[in-house]
Amino acid sequence: GSQQVDREVPSVCPFCGVGCQITYKVRDEKIVAVDGRDGPANHSRLCVKGRFGFDYAHHPHRLTVPLVRKPGVPKDTDVLRNPALWSEVFREATWDEALDLAAGGLKALRDQHGPRSLAGFGSAKGTNEEAYLFQKLVRTGFGSNNVDHCTRLCHASSVAALLEGVGSGAVSNQVADVAQAELILVIGSNPTANHPVAATWMKNAAQAGTKIVLADPRVTDIGRHAWRTLQFRPDTDVALLNALIHTIIDEGLADRAFIEARTSHFEELRAGVAAFSPEAMEAVCGVPAATLREVARAFATARAAMILWGMGISQHVHGTDNARCLIALCAVAGQIGKPGSGLHPLRGQNNVQGASDAGLIPMMLPNYQRVDDPAVRAWFERFWGTPLDPQPGYTVVEIMDKALAPESDPHKVRGMYVEGENPAMSDPDLNHAREALAGLSHLVVQDIFMTETAWMADVVLPATAWPEKTGTVTNTDRMVQLGRQAIEPPGQARPDLWLIQQIAARMGLAWHYPGPDAGVAAVYEEMRQAMHGAIAGISWERLEREGSVTYPCLSEDDPGQPIVFTDSFPTADGRLRLVPTQLLTAAERPDPEYPLVLITGRQLEHWHTGSMTRRSAVLDAIEPVATASLNGRELERRGLVAGQMATLQSRRGEVRCHLRRDDGTPDGAVFMPFAYQEAAANLLTNPALDPFGKIPEFKYCAVKVSP
Ligand code: SF4
Repeated sequence: GSQQVDREVPSVCPFCGVGCQITYKVRDEKIVAVDGRDGPANHSRLCVKGRFGFDYAHHPHRLTVPLVRKPGVPKDTDVLRNPALWSEVFREATWDEALDLAAGGLKALRDQHGPRSLAGFGSAKGTNEEAYLFQKLVRTGFGSNNVDHCTRLCHASSVAALLEGVGSGAVSNQVADVAQAELILVIGSNPTANHPVAATWMKNAAQAGTKIVLADPRVTDIGRHAWRTLQFRPDTDVALLNALIHTIIDEGLADRAFIEARTSHFEELRAGVAAFSPEAMEAVCGVPAATLREVARAFATARAAMILWGMGISQHVHGTDNARCLIALCAVAGQIGKPGSGLHPLRGQNNVQGASDAGLIPMMLPNYQRVDDPAVRAWFERFWGTPLDPQPGYTVVEIMDKALAPESDPHKVRGMYVEGENPAMSDPDLNHAREALAGLSHLVVQDIFMTETAWMADVVLPATAWPEKTGTVTNTDRMVQLGRQAIEPPGQARPDLWLIQQIAARMGLAWHYPGPDAGVAAVYEEMRQAMHGAIAGISWERLEREGSVTYPCLSEDDPGQPIVFTDSFPTADGRLRLVPTQLLTAAERPDPEYPLVLITGRQLEHWHTGSMTRRSAVLDAIEPVATASLNGRELERRGLVAGQMATLQSRRGEVRCHLRRDDGTPDGAVFMPFAYQEAAANLLTNPALDPFGKIPEFKYCAVKVSP
């Protein structure tokens, strides 16, 4: 706008994985506005979060002094939003004292109970450099692979299926490629709310003639632009998708040349889908057989067809199977490896792709190199100069279980370092997760606010918000992008990258990352070597020059590869592996006592656990209170009205919030965002896990609603 500013700083939006480039406008050392910049993912577009979600950085609730828990104060979750009460629980400390206590407590547990008594959660909201250094700290300082982050709650099942099927967890085609598609299948995703600028590219494509097929139990905004909408019953993804695959094979529409040249295990797939005719699956998934056949034909015969999906696919006990079906659907139709086609799991957090690439996962070192592969481990042992644990570590939900394990369990988790994650809001079955966190002998939390997790910490380390640091993030399109520091952190808050190094030093690690911004460029360059190839051509200098480079990028003059798998797959035999799937049902089904299905998710204005967006004035003004949505028929059937307060209960917990009418929500279901601390949806959710991706079933559990 025309506002006078002191400086304009180029960065990247801190919210979703679309990776919009932004300009921070700074006056009197405060961000006063954000503009869209002409980045490759957004071409100056921004959504409401990117444009208005910045003033959280200046919120009076920011942590500005290191805090240490007072002796004997019990760990509960009731009063954390009232800063006046913090001093009853915590006292202020100097940095030296806080860091000594933080690292000293972890070290003592490690020395007494062994490396696996510790665990670390890093963050998909931090930079690649932070993610890399954090997992290096856990692996080389704590001494185990008990390191994970919220990818476990997000696309872990998609990634499990993709690594198995195509040999890479990243997208095959970028979002903007929808313009080249004749048809796009959007499944288990509400892009208008969760990837808003990506949704604008989809809508633009639809206006130019691309057919959108929306497949989702909830009919959301993108349905207004859809050629066909498949409102299938929650939990029946495999029935629906196998019916599409069945039809393509059954009607002779399969791409035989592609299948023969580039896939394996086709006969197993064919046999596996034989019983899944649309006529048989209509009764299961609730979509008419004729519609299933019509969509299957359109997908198979399109010049190019692309699949984009979200948590609706991944957050089920059969999430990996759901994603296996998507891979098979693309493959039998030959819709991968060319423009406008392929597989695009829409990444949630701004850096969940990059944090995973950097090795912030318990079974893999940087660039998905397995910890249990001796050759890989030997390379890293040389590179880092220390022996490594050959056993994969525990995942997010398993770590919570291990924290509650009996004293006799040799793998009981007793101490944790949580950097920028909020498991006391984001984990399933929060009463259980909070009990686990509260029961730890030593919990160190590094964050910008007194999150629900920090409230249970023994030591709280005040860290930097995104606009206060320089570093790289990797978006859903595989673009590595550089964000630059726009403002100074408040009070004594310190950069996350510096804090991780301080903890490491106090645990006996001799690291040396010289240079400005806590040595971010040196950390990046070390990570680039550890990644073995994928970002070989993306030097720090190049990022400073270009701002955004897509990987794979093999050399300085490689422009980056927006479309992958054009002639082979990065699997052992170069082929896409087809994996048949069977019907599995949700771990907890509705019954007379808990008759409704709870579907959790997000909404446009609020981000995940709400710690940032609910402290952004404009966003909080648009969506100030927690709501649960039911359709009009369901409200009427239960004698409820939109706007009233109601209680939602599951077998694990209960919350009270306002009811909202949303006729896109299916019969028999209620939808709730999980951003609201005062009505935390995850008090209700089920921690049952997908056996492959270890992702919890956030998209399905049984609840009841009463006035
Ligand atoms: Fe930020 Fe995502 Fe919105 Fe872009 S679409 S402005 S990256 S939240």
